[in-house]
Amino acid sequence: MIEKPMLRICLIGVFLLFAGAAHAQGSTPAKKLFGNKPLPASLAPRSHGFYSRGCLAGGTAMPVDGPNWQAMRLSRNRNWGHPDLVAYLKWLAGQAAAKDGWPGLLVGDMSQPRGGPMLTGHRSHQTGLDADIWLTPMPNRQLSRKERENLSATAVVKPGPHRVYKNVWTDAHFRLIKRAASHKRVQRILVAPGIKKKLCESEKGSRRWLRKMRPYYGHNYHMHIRLFCPPGSPGCKAQQATPTDDGCGKALAWWYSKEPYAKPKTPPKPRKEITLAGLPAACSTVLKASDRSDAGPAQAAYAGKSLPMEGTVTLKVMGPAASLADLPVPILPRSRPAGR
Ligand SMILES: [Zn+2]
Repeated sequence: MIEKPMLRICLIGVFLLFAGAAHAQGSTPAKKLFGNKPLPASLAPRSHGFYSRGCLAGGTAMPVDGPNWQAMRLSRNRNWGHPDLVAYLKWLAGQAAAKDGWPGLLVGDMSQPRGGPMLTGHRSHQTGLDADIWLTPMPNRQLSRKERENLSATAVVKPGPHRVYKNVWTDAHFRLIKRAASHKRVQRILVAPGIKKKLCESEKGSRRWLRKMRPYYGHNYHMHIRLFCPPGSPGCKAQQATPTDDGCGKALAWWYSKEPYAKPKTPPKPRKEITLAGLPAACSTVLKASDRSDAGPAQAAYAGKSLPMEGTVTLKVMGPAASLADLPVPILPRSRPAGR
């Protein structure tokens, strides 16, 4: 039997241990906590918080191969999303192949298995509702795992206020992007200003969908698709609606002025690391939950077992190519002024 003073010391010790652990977790950057989870949380699918400050419960994997898509950069383990995003991407891949002359999607980063901040890149992509789709047509064969790591995306325009490369841009690019924006679940799509300009010039019919196309820094070799908060996710924080006009006038002209690229007068303050305490409370539950045991296709995605490791491919690169891994974060990742 343990004597009373001894028991007290033990209890205090245990308490300090737990308090210490809790404190450590509280101050650890959330990207480390979420970035180290290889599998989704065994919870009902829900997006919590905002695109750039949130997490994902019950994530689903976009299978690494499908009839009209292939997931890229598998080592990053970011082909996860809310099931609605996965369903949307499958829909887009099928529609684009059947109707738009786009052979298939090369799927770039979505979210981590449990969403949350990432160790590298992206500020958003945290709630399982964002997906980067390459603007490079899918080759008509299965890419090896190595190719999916190393293959470069083709830039369709230089970053900044430029025009699309005439030898890269095709009508199929237009149809793919329009198809992507046409779905009612899509909140916005980020593209380089030069791509928005081309879309504005090319559309001869209804211009309603163009309001969803938002010019932004970078995004010259991929489009960033963002879905609205899904039904059944009450903790998901909506983003402000895009302006109601097509955005082809003054708002686009602003991107062709010097202002967006001018050096800020006062250097921007370094962003504070997001900690677990800075995320919605539900994200602690997401982090603690056990792994989803039925995450089958995802396991394959992570382990890459079904894919050949070797192989060479030379895609016809028509414009300057940029490796996604090497690309710096956009030069001036500042918020656009209100209404732009
Ligand atoms: Zn993105």
